[in-house]
Amino acid sequence: MDPSKYGVRPSKSLGQNFIRDMSVIERIVDGAGIEPDDMVIEIGPGLGVLTSALASRAAFVTAVEIDGRLIPVLEETLKDYGNVRVINRDILKTDIGQLVEESRSEGLFSGKVHIVGNLPYYITTPIIMKLLEDNVPADSITVMMQKEVADRIRSAPGSRTYGAISAAVQYYCRVSKITDVPKEAFVPRPKVESTVLRLEPLKDEKPQVKDENMYLRCVKAGFAQRRKTLLNSLSSAGGIDKETVKMRLEAAGIDPGRRAETLTVEEFARMADSFSDEQD
Ligand code: SAM
Repeated sequence: MDPSKYGVRPSKSLGQNFIRDMSVIERIVDGAGIEPDDMVIEIGPGLGVLTSALASRAAFVTAVEIDGRLIPVLEETLKDYGNVRVINRDILKTDIGQLVEESRSEGLFSGKVHIVGNLPYYITTPIIMKLLEDNVPADSITVMMQKEVADRIRSAPGSRTYGAISAAVQYYCRVSKITDVPKEAFVPRPKVESTVLRLEPLKDEKPQVKDENMYLRCVKAGFAQRRKTLLNSLSSAGGIDKETVKMRLEAAGIDPGRRAETLTVEEFARMADSFSDEQD
């Protein structure tokens, strides 16, 4: 869809690149696995092209859009869909759990919950981390992002691209790739290639840790200086004396001379529990 048709000049600072290739819309909607009783929360509906495809499959769609200029456009493009609610709000300041609960108690859907979006790339990581840290009640998260970020999220330990975002997302979710998307699929064209990932939040299969915040702190501190050993990066970024770091890593069965980029999610989880014990 062409934004100029609606008199809207796309905002670079809000990451506005609108999908024009309908086959991409189909791949996203298929990848999300939406059933007729389900609810979808869409992040950044833009002009409503993906929104209308989602509304054709789901019982109910709530779309959260920060740009007030797009609200009248969405009212127009979505006027034939009675099962869509558009909210003019910043997704980073939205209580998604509450939106889901309200819609369920109003009887607007009875099935699963899916989060879907062609994300604004300037805040991809904060959005994904918010969804995960808030433990949003979603059965799937299907989102398009910059290809390079998607590659990092999917990376395995030992790889050059394995980093804090990989160890954080893979702790919470099973990750799969739906499709790559070329620049030509958008108006205006972004500078980067894109990828759609599906993140399936793990429920009981998630490694059990005493404190999820501690897990994330260990991951962030471990990767703060990725060339350094765990002993050095955890003591400088984590602000803990070296003797304690050494003792806690050894108690977790992890060699303090290793680097964060070699650690699996399970090893980060053991490390986090060992540091949680230190605080008890
Ligand atoms: N879904 C549309 C599409 O695929 O054509 C638009 C996608 S565009 C990449 C990202 C959308 O997110 C824009 O509509 C933008 O205004 C919106 N957006 C940017 N920051 C946001 C925020 N913090 N909260 C909610 N929406 C945001």
